[in-house]
Amino acid sequence: MADAGRTSRYVGRFAPSPTGPLHEGSLVAALASWLDARAHGGRWLIRIEDVDGPRCPPGADAMVLSQLAQVNLLPDEPPIWQSTRGAAYQAALDRLVASGWAYPCGCSRKAIAEAIAQQGQTRARHGELVYPGTCRHGLRGLPARAWRLRTTATLQDEQDRRIDWTDRRLGPQWQDLTREVGDVVLKRADGLWAYQLAVVVDDAWQQVTDVVRGEDLADNTPRQMHLLERLGLPCPTYLHTPLVRGANGEKLSKQNGAQALDLSDPLAALRRAGEALGLPHLAAAASGEWLGQAVKAWPYRPRQ
Ligand code: GLU
Repeated sequence: MADAGRTSRYVGRFAPSPTGPLHEGSLVAALASWLDARAHGGRWLIRIEDVDGPRCPPGADAMVLSQLAQVNLLPDEPPIWQSTRGAAYQAALDRLVASGWAYPCGCSRKAIAEAIAQQGQTRARHGELVYPGTCRHGLRGLPARAWRLRTTATLQDEQDRRIDWTDRRLGPQWQDLTREVGDVVLKRADGLWAYQLAVVVDDAWQQVTDVVRGEDLADNTPRQMHLLERLGLPCPTYLHTPLVRGANGEKLSKQNGAQALDLSDPLAALRRAGEALGLPHLAAAASGEWLGQAVKAWPYRPRQ
C-alpha cells in the first residue's frame, strides 16, 4: 500500500525552451522523462520555458507540442507557459530579498571582469565569469541592474556552500557553489527572469517529484538545490540522461545547428531516441505499441 501511495505521487515533466523545433537530442530528454513517469505509474507534464522571450520565435511552442503529439507523448494536464508566471517569480524573489538571501547587483560585465582581474583570479565557467560578490554588501551608490542569490553556507559568514547530491544515473556528485559558480543571477539586467529561479519555482508549483533531463543540465542542479532550500521548497530526485552527440562529437543543440526532428516516420524517431537511452530493440510495429514496450524495458527502474 505504502508503495502504491508513493509511486502514484510521482510527477515528472519535460520543460523545453521553445527556441526552435525539437531536435533528436531534445526528443531523448522528452522520451526519458515520459518513460520514467510511466514506469513509476506517475503523471507527466509539459512546461514551455519561454522566459527568454527574445530567443523564442513565434510558433515554436506550438511546433514543439505538435512534434511531441506526433510521437504520442501527450501530457496529463494542459501545458503551462513560463511567460505567464512572472508574478510567481516576483513573489519568490521578494521572499529571498526579505530573508536576506537575494540582493540587488549594480555590476556591468565589464565591472565584474575588472574586479576579478584585480583579485588576480581567472575563474570562468562555461565562458561565464564567476561573480566575485562585489555587491553582496551593498550597491555602493550604483543603480540596481540585476538580482542575485547569495551562495554562501549561511547568511552571516562567507563560508563556501558545498552541495552533495546523487544522480540516479551519474551517481554521487558534488559542487562548491561559492567557488565554482558564485552568486546566481535571479533576475537579469534586461529585466528577464533567470532560468534557475523560474525552473525551481515552477517545479515546486507543479509538484514535480522527479526531474529527468539531459546531462548538459546536471551542472545546474546544485544551484537549483540551494535555491529550493532557501525558498523552503521540497527537492526532487534527479536523473540526467546521456547526451546525443553530432558527427563532430559535440552535443546536439539548436545553437550548433542541430536539424529539426525528422518525424516522417514517428516509430523510427522513437527507436533512435530509445537507442540513445540504452533501450533494446523492441518489436513494436507502431509508435503507441513501442512506447508500451519501452516502459517495460526502461532501464531506470522505479526507485526503491
Ligand atoms: N528549458 C531547459 C532546456 O530546454 C530545460 C530545463 C530543465 O529541464 O530543467 O534546456
